[in-house]
Amino acid sequence: MSSSAHSRRRVSLPVFRDPMVPPVRVAGDPQIPCLSCGHCCTYVAVGVNAPTSPRYASDMLWYLYHEHVTVHRDVDGDWSVVFATRCRNLGVDLCCGVYAERPHICRVFDESGCEVNAPDSRDRVFETPTQFLEFLRSWRPKTYARIETTHVPPGLRLAPLASPPTPARSRRTPSSRARRSSAAAKRR
Ligand code: SF4
Ligand code: SF4
Repeated sequence: MSSSAHSRRRVSLPVFRDPMVPPVRVAGDPQIPCLSCGHCCTYVAVGVNAPTSPRYASDMLWYLYHEHVTVHRDVDGDWSVVFATRCRNLGVDLCCGVYAERPHICRVFDESGCEVNAPDSRDRVFETPTQFLEFLRSWRPKTYARIETTHVPPGLRLAPLASPPTPARSRRTPSSRARRSSAAAKRR
């Protein structure tokens, strides 16, 4: 080994995390600061019609046929399509490059009620058409039945059930509505 190799010094470099993968807050831990996260600057979410009709259910399939697109249903029954795409203004240090002039939606987003600091296990995320179809069949069996042979390719059709599903009913809570109102602002 050369003398120059011996003289090299180890330098600690800052470790930047990938904001596309949200940090997980452990219950009871302090709130995760935005400068350690950056996750909500890595997607665009747009509210869409709930899949209560064949047309809107078919739209969900169309969204989910695309790469880097997921569909979300929150505990209040609001649906959104989410495009995973990092904001060009998000620096490697997770600072906003246009902070003083950032868009309105970024200003009103509430970090105390966001998906990282206040996740709700009742929110649903669909990453594939099959996940959505399984939910649709249990939630709106008639809608699923109406699109099954007309809009679902044979390879995606679900195996028959032993007994017919009972439509599920969603629950609403005051706390979830309040939490959602701040999160929804990000998506307007
Ligand atoms: S608001 Fe929430 S998701 Fe966004 S950067 Fe802050 S902690 Fe992360
Ligand atoms: S403009 Fe700034 S705060 Fe808004 S999404 Fe981009 S990086 Fe985040």
